[in-house]
Amino acid sequence: QAQPQQQVDYVFKIVVIGDSAVGKTQLLGRFTRDEFRFDSKSTIGVEFQTRTLSIQNKLVKAQIWDTAGQERYRAVTSAYYRGALGAMLVYDITRRQSFDHAARWVEELRAHADSSMVVMLIGNKADLVGQRAVPAEDAAEFAEEQGLFFSEASALSGENVERAFLRLLEEIYGVVV
Ligand code: GDP
Repeated sequence: QAQPQQQVDYVFKIVVIGDSAVGKTQLLGRFTRDEFRFDSKSTIGVEFQTRTLSIQNKLVKAQIWDTAGQERYRAVTSAYYRGALGAMLVYDITRRQSFDHAARWVEELRAHADSSMVVMLIGNKADLVGQRAVPAEDAAEFAEEQGLFFSEASALSGENVERAFLRLLEEIYGVVV
């Protein structure tokens, strides 16, 4: 595992977007610190978190930005997207509306972000199997239409979180290096 003081070869900015309460902050906490917080939001105001890892023998620092609640007020600004090479577009598999809004978030990306940006659609809360409101097939079809990568995941159990972020980072690496 990379040490923080090591010289990094690349910094990849990634933004996490999606409706409020879909689990964006928890996914970020799971990936960067392998933790899930049962207490309320402690990250409000924190702009980004980082994790350095090795991809193709290069040290890559993932700098992952959280909306910090701004999505509630439709105040996600173009500064948030500036320089971002990748995006995690998150919905909640138990809340259909959060998936229906994914199309709007894709428009938002197309408006603000570089067209080469790598986007991964994440169906979070996959641990809540009994409450599923979005079939994985619907999301896979939408992702294919829109040219997004897709995975379900659970920030709570950790299932697929590492894998999804790694996939995103590897795809970004393929685009920029
Ligand atoms: P954000 O507003 O998109 O950043 O959402 P949060 O990360 O604050 O999570 C919203 C709520 O969903 C919180 O109560 C979390 O504990 C819960 N949550 C987040 N991820 C998961 C998950 O994978 N499974 C379950 N069961 N709950 C989750």
